[in-house]
Amino acid sequence: MSTIQPPDSDLSELDRAEVEAAVMDQGARRFHGTQVFQWIWARGVTDFAAMTDLAQPLRATLAERCRVSAPTIETRQVSADGTTKFLLRLADGRHIEAVYIPDTPAQTFCVSTQVGCAMNCAFCLTGKMGLVRNLTPGEIATQVRLIAHETRLANTAFNVVLMGMGEPLHNYDATMKAIRILTDAKGLAMHPKRITLSTVGVLPGLEKLANEPLMPNLAVSLHATTNEQRDRLVPVNRKYTLEDLIDACRRFPLAKRRRIMFEYVLLAGVNDTPEDAHRLARLLGGIKAKVNLLPLNEAPGIAFTRPADDRVNAFAQILVDHGLVVTVRRSRGRDIRAACGQLIVDGQRRSPGQTLAAALRLEPSAGNARL
Ligand code: SAH
Repeated sequence: MSTIQPPDSDLSELDRAEVEAAVMDQGARRFHGTQVFQWIWARGVTDFAAMTDLAQPLRATLAERCRVSAPTIETRQVSADGTTKFLLRLADGRHIEAVYIPDTPAQTFCVSTQVGCAMNCAFCLTGKMGLVRNLTPGEIATQVRLIAHETRLANTAFNVVLMGMGEPLHNYDATMKAIRILTDAKGLAMHPKRITLSTVGVLPGLEKLANEPLMPNLAVSLHATTNEQRDRLVPVNRKYTLEDLIDACRRFPLAKRRRIMFEYVLLAGVNDTPEDAHRLARLLGGIKAKVNLLPLNEAPGIAFTRPADDRVNAFAQILVDHGLVVTVRRSRGRDIRAACGQLIVDGQRRSPGQTLAAALRLEPSAGNARL
């Protein structure tokens, strides 16, 4: 029995056309490949033996020559508000987190695009890990598949936000392929409108995204209204300035009734003054925008504090008075560190921030084993 598998034998890494080609390589017809893709993505079945509408010999050949890899769910933590954080173990032993945020009417899955993150935003715990590695397309899309089937929501209209660990535009090709897999009509058949890609503004990636046939919703993590301020909070701003970012947003093609969501973390005494609010409104003038305010989720090792609610409301009110659409993000799952900017897991390589986080016992139990 052959044990050497070609590199494209991991079907979870392939889009539908590639799965069809891989199955045809085993001497089967294209529609058999389509069926395999449906089993994996629409029905969540990865064991070839259970793909009962395929002939027995084909199932046996596929079982011998191919596989459908998937991260394993190592732990599930359920927050008081129902938010569930999944700690997933990847094939190489690294860990990522993905979060299910139940809501009415929309159910949202927040998934990661990298192990760690290279962007190092001043207030984000994931940034303290540094970038460990990119996720593959299969690893990104499979987080959605696992949670969708785990929560029995696979056949409903759920939302996906690429707001977990990592910067999606810093792992561009894998992210776009994952979106292609998730939106395939024979798979989970997501509407691209139900996927939101959140970025700090990696401009070459943003320009490329503007020309994609499959367009997710765009969220831009702004967090500051001057270069001086943004340089400190979002270091990538030193490379791609605020003016250039806003310019790229202005040029970004938007479908009817769509808006760019600008995320703005509110840090007490840093970027939450009335002047900041007025500047933010001016900056976004003429852009089809909505603003999502994120009062900081505090964490040990993060040197900022969350503004009081009346401060948040005053900031929001100024934006509203300027005619902007504003939402304040209710933080979900803070008690289990599943909220924005709180995702951090152990990597093999420890950055100073990771060591700090570990010392403060921020990590999930799997990560604490070596302490
Ligand atoms: N790298 C992408 C995807 C991460 S999305 C991006 O930055 O857009 C996660 C969102 O949560 C971002 O807007 C991020 O800036 C924000 N965030 C990070 N740390 C946070 C914290 N401690 N409190 C609240 N929001 C935070």
